[in-house]
Amino acid sequence: RVRVRFAPSPTGALHIGGVRTALYNYMFARQHGGDLVFRIEDTDSNRFVPGAEEYIIESFKWLGITFDEGVSFGGDKGPYRQSERRDIYKEYVRQLLDAGKAYIAFDTPEELEAKRGQVQNFQYDAHTRLSMRNSLTMSKDEVDSLIAQGAQYVVRFMVEPGREVHVDDLIRGDVRIKSDIIDDKVLYKSADELPTYHLANIVDDHLMEITHVIRGEEWLPSAPLHVLLYEAFGWADTMPRFAHLPLLLKPEGKGKLSKRDGDRLGFPVFPLEWHDPKSGEVSAGFRESGYFPEAVINFLALLGWNPGTERELYSLDELCQLFDITKCSKAGAKFDYKKCIWFNHEYMLMKSDDEVAALFAPIVRSHVPAATDSQVRAVVAMMKDRVNFVSELWPLCSFFFVAPTAYDEKTRRKRWKEDSARVMGELAALLEATDDFSIQAQEHTVEQWIQDKGYKLGDVMNAWRLTLVGEGKGPGMFDISAFLGKDETIARMRRAID
Ligand code: GLU
Repeated sequence: RVRVRFAPSPTGALHIGGVRTALYNYMFARQHGGDLVFRIEDTDSNRFVPGAEEYIIESFKWLGITFDEGVSFGGDKGPYRQSERRDIYKEYVRQLLDAGKAYIAFDTPEELEAKRGQVQNFQYDAHTRLSMRNSLTMSKDEVDSLIAQGAQYVVRFMVEPGREVHVDDLIRGDVRIKSDIIDDKVLYKSADELPTYHLANIVDDHLMEITHVIRGEEWLPSAPLHVLLYEAFGWADTMPRFAHLPLLLKPEGKGKLSKRDGDRLGFPVFPLEWHDPKSGEVSAGFRESGYFPEAVINFLALLGWNPGTERELYSLDELCQLFDITKCSKAGAKFDYKKCIWFNHEYMLMKSDDEVAALFAPIVRSHVPAATDSQVRAVVAMMKDRVNFVSELWPLCSFFFVAPTAYDEKTRRKRWKEDSARVMGELAALLEATDDFSIQAQEHTVEQWIQDKGYKLGDVMNAWRLTLVGEGKGPGMFDISAFLGKDETIARMRRAID
């Protein structure tokens, strides 16, 4: 059974790249009828940020990505928060120590710093470990008594030199790396009695029976070490398969996408607005910026993979069916945020008028409390194809609900002719006498009148628009007058002429 996981560290807001990773895991799990596990990797207490875990959970709720197991979802392979698994890790650290695959090291940060000053490109490994203060160079008694005295230590993994390590990657193929370039990584720190990311990650993926590790490219350099750890534990047979996803790049295409790019170009890089508890800084979120979750999902799904057709709009279910992890690109994917705006527009068009009206109604009512549902729906039907976000509707549509109190000077100079006031007076009288105020009936009556009088259609409509809207924008004139109704239409016209 396929089992994948998304394993964020609660160090701040969930970056949009993390959302893409979670989404690909989700699509892969769904496609194979497998499980998606949500694990919190919080063993680095220095980087822990309060609220981050809740933020991540809320983000996925908004996006519609659901997990089968994990923190806040339950399951029988927990606890799923690494800080609650200390005892489990200790046991596995002990196992490696007993098997002679790891060792205890007492070198202090100052000593390591000094060493780096003496030896160029110093690396703690097979070539240098015998000149350091560790259980390989000290007697057992010495080690035991130091620990008994409360000396702080770390446990380091003993990387065997001269090996070629293979990482079997579903996207990148067989990635080979010489073990000599891998240092003896710290697996455990006595100071906080917690393992480092590497050990906890491997132990948990094993115990949680993860079959595929799908994560960002930034973890590819760690993968050879992880392969060696699986071997050291004797778990090589059940080692998960790896897939390292391409990086998300700046919209310009060069360099990794960062929060600063969002600030610079004005787009969010976080799913939800984030209030940083340390700096107090507030960062924009896709949700608060008015993006539809389906649009964000559709956009992200195609960053690094596509089904190989021209079609771009897919539901999450369709994406799950079509997804093929082996077809992901190795090259980074440009974060073309304008494309995401386009997706939002497309999803706006796909939504029913009622759905959009439900989002727009509170905005309208904050200006005009008496606005009715059917008025809001009618405006949405006329105007939603002109906007990318619901928030853009009010500035475009306020005139439907609020009569103009001023007339745009530029439009007036261009569109209001010498005889406009007189013509509008005639039109008002004509409409006054019109019983059927439907779009079609008005159209018929008004156009007939224009013809009889020999007026220019454009001149009449431009002037009429100015009286009802106050400027030169909006949908067709008969749509506007039919929406406003006879009384309001004529009242606005008379106010403009007086
Ligand atoms: N905790 C790591 C992160 O925050 C997980 C890396 C992995 O998936 O192995 O990205």
